Amino acid sequence: MRTVTASNPLLLGCIADDFTGATDLANNLVRAGMRVVQTIGVPREPVTGVDAVVVALKSRTIPAAEAVSQSLEALRWLQSQGCRQFYFKVCSTFDSTAQGNIGPVAEALLEALGAPFCCVTPAFPENGRTVFKGHLFVGDVLLSDSGMRNHPLTPMTDANLVRVMQAQSRGRVGLIDHSVVRGGAAPIHARIQQLQAEGYRFAIVDAIADQDLMHLGRALADAPMMVAGSGVAIGLPQNHGLSTSHEAAALPKSQGARAIVSGSCSVATNKQVADFIQKGLPALAVDPLQIAAGRNIVEEALAWARPKLGSDPVLVYSSAPPESVHAVQQQLGVGDAGAMVEHALAAIAKGLVDAGVGELIVAGGETSGAAVQALGVQQLRIGPQIDPGVPWCHANATACGRNVHVALKSGNFGSTDFFTKSFRQLA
Ligand code: ADP
Repeated sequence: MRTVTASNPLLLGCIADDFTGATDLANNLVRAGMRVVQTIGVPREPVTGVDAVVVALKSRTIPAAEAVSQSLEALRWLQSQGCRQFYFKVCSTFDSTAQGNIGPVAEALLEALGAPFCCVTPAFPENGRTVFKGHLFVGDVLLSDSGMRNHPLTPMTDANLVRVMQAQSRGRVGLIDHSVVRGGAAPIHARIQQLQAEGYRFAIVDAIADQDLMHLGRALADAPMMVAGSGVAIGLPQNHGLSTSHEAAALPKSQGARAIVSGSCSVATNKQVADFIQKGLPALAVDPLQIAAGRNIVEEALAWARPKLGSDPVLVYSSAPPESVHAVQQQLGVGDAGAMVEHALAAIAKGLVDAGVGELIVAGGETSGAAVQALGVQQLRIGPQIDPGVPWCHANATACGRNVHVALKSGNFGSTDFFTKSFRQLA
């Protein structure tokens, strides 16, 4: 039963250190019964009629001092909206270094809130992230044995999160281990009090099943802040009498033509493109070398698409197998090729919405970022989940002067028929 109304202040204010992570968190909150808006950066306008706002920053790997200042700006805005509880969303693989940014940002937020302590956990068992005795597992292997040990920016070579968090924090880091967590909210709460009294600033919290996160959620009912992946979100709406409902995910009715713009070259996206083409639906490939050669690919793509727009989706894609991506990158350079393709696809996305597209899928994390910017989208109301981590959203595309339904799919997400089943779900 919903116990809040549109005029209530926000129940939860979230600060996410990247864009797709923000969507992942928002999606979990909606599934557990909260109405959620995700904003692109710190908004200038108030947000009303929702239970939680997720402010998406791009602060995961920027210098720590900048991450701190952006996060504090987000905190101040959330406080101005009446928030009393805050969620700092970090990566589910705890991406960070001894310089931060998780420790420095968390400590700055705690200080700004005048709070002495908070719980920290990237656990989300449903998605294969478990924490036991403070050690993070990714699927069946320790974080330090997973692919994350070779990450170019944040190599994770230690799975012991107490040590990892301690290396980047001034305050002491403790542990709430599974023998406490499995006992339920009361023992967790007691342990929090104890650690706080002993002068700890953080505790890594074990969780090996989603039920552990439900216990933790209850124990955090009166906590001013938490640092977590998207998992802890599943246990928070219950504290406000909210539970899973279609109401939280309800979006205004969609209208307009259907289109997909795909700049992701991941294995999953390449399969989705192939599936779409195999179904005989209209698809146009964009060749990065032609863009580089100065052809007006944006206008050509829009001229191709306009007469086809309607209830059958059209697809414009640069998605390609690794060999051709590699060949393009060798000719144009990795950075230039990426930026050029993103720019062209974002302009095509905007042109499609200008031409009447009201339901738009964008495939690719960076491609989505570029498209959202070109469309002038500043806020996304989060709707029903299509596949894990990818919800339909409703947004005002200010650059086009109209509202659109968008699904922003990062690389490897989504089933093979994602490009067709998503539209059926909206209908
Ligand atoms: P993902 O979520 O799968 O990583 P992104 O959109 O984040 O997808 O990244 C894909 C990158 O590859 C983008 O920078 C995009 O512009 C670039 N790209 C897309 N198609 C091609 C192509 N055919 N050749 C080279 N680079 C490409």
